Amino acid sequence: MALRIDHAACTLCLRCIEECPYGALAQLEDRIAVGEACTFCGLCVEICPVAAISIEAKETERAEAGRGAVLVYGEHHEGRLHHVVFELIGKGAELATTLRCPLEVVVAGHGLPDVCAQLAGLAVDTVHLVEHPALAQYRDGPFGRTLAHLIGELRPAIVLAGATGRGRSLMPRVAVLCRTGLTADCTGLEIESETGDLLQTRPAFGGNVMATIVTRRHRPQMATVRPKVMTPPERKGTARPRVRRWAVPSELTASRTQVLARQAGDQGPVNIAEADVLVAGGRGLGGPEGFKPLAELAALLGGELAASRAVVDAGWVPYERQVGQTGKTVQPRLYVAVGISGAVQHRAGMQSSETIVAINSDPDAPIFQFADYGIVGDHREVLPALIERLRAARAAEGAEDE
Ligand SMILES: Cc1cc2nc3c(=O)[nH]c(=O)nc-3n(C[C@H](O)[C@H](O)[C@H](O)COP(=O)(O)OP(=O)(O)OC[C@H]3O[C@@H](n4cnc5c(N)ncnc54)[C@H](O)[C@@H]3O)c2cc1C
Repeated sequence: MALRIDHAACTLCLRCIEECPYGALAQLEDRIAVGEACTFCGLCVEICPVAAISIEAKETERAEAGRGAVLVYGEHHEGRLHHVVFELIGKGAELATTLRCPLEVVVAGHGLPDVCAQLAGLAVDTVHLVEHPALAQYRDGPFGRTLAHLIGELRPAIVLAGATGRGRSLMPRVAVLCRTGLTADCTGLEIESETGDLLQTRPAFGGNVMATIVTRRHRPQMATVRPKVMTPPERKGTARPRVRRWAVPSELTASRTQVLARQAGDQGPVNIAEADVLVAGGRGLGGPEGFKPLAELAALLGGELAASRAVVDAGWVPYERQVGQTGKTVQPRLYVAVGISGAVQHRAGMQSSETIVAINSDPDAPIFQFADYGIVGDHREVLPALIERLRAARAAEGAEDE
């Protein structure tokens, strides 16, 4: 395969150099020269105003050209892959199938356990393992430079990462180092059939519109996705991906920061994104005391307390329990929303819950439009009745067990 420039036709307008997402073209005196970074993506062919550029290739080669892999960033904590990685692998596999390209995962760290075992039975073709003592503890600088270096070597078409605390800090740096764009907090990813470009959908303008963003002129196309937005894939068999080990140039791992010690925050171990059952309260509860019966209901259902932003802003409940666009995205089996109106920003964080039960005194509250079960009533009447019925049911279960 070769990129051919018709130098007689070329007017040296230099648009191809400006637009090449891989920086593979350069002007050498009165000619355009093609460098090794060219992936034959065909963008220069499309934009050349005098049709002076062409790709010489067999049909089969042409189909595969410019189709770098879909690369998922394998965020891990002490070697255990974050669940968002599996969710991204599920979506990444769909994208890779549409693009007919490999799905790959990159994992960086030091003294990593058998990461491939965690990826067995998934549609991952290759795991790129980067190990270096400087990567033993997570730090934005060394991890960012390492990932950008690997992206430069692998030239993937798409890079996906979790919009976790680390992902949000890491990926903008990587995007800058790779001189490409980044769409944060995507809720949908699809391939545009005509172009093969990645359609990156995310809420915009406070969640009131869904914007679809396309990175036409830069590669790779980079997106982050919040945990629990995508569904993890089912494992098929036990086949493991191929492993490719990479050495990192030591200048990439130098850092001005040093981790002296790690200390857990005051907020305790609660992670509502992991809970199977959530009982969430809103402004309709009237004050922090309204959360006492809610906590009892959550305990009876074996769940955790959650909240709308209105009550977090009011200081009734800590931020770690906020659900929604600026809080956590959750996907429990059961989500009970009490005194929550169902604003679009709240809905964005809980609409994928398996079963939604809403308790609200206003029959026209928006939450009833997407709840599976709705109870119209005052929480001061509904909650005690529910709690009483659940206590009785638990007591009956206990008696049966004896
Ligand atoms: C950029 C941006 C980001 C945002 N991010 C988030 C976010 O992450 N999460 C989030 O939740 N919000 C978010 N919001 C705020 C969001 O728009 C709403 O203001 C918020 O969700 C409202 O919270 P609420 O439903 O608790 O309160 P309200 O909207 O005031 O609703 C209270 C509900 O309680 C009901 N009620 C009143 N009394 C009773 C009673 N006695 N018994 C039963 N029901 C009763 C009422 O009928 C009403 O429906 C965001 C807003 C913006 C602009």
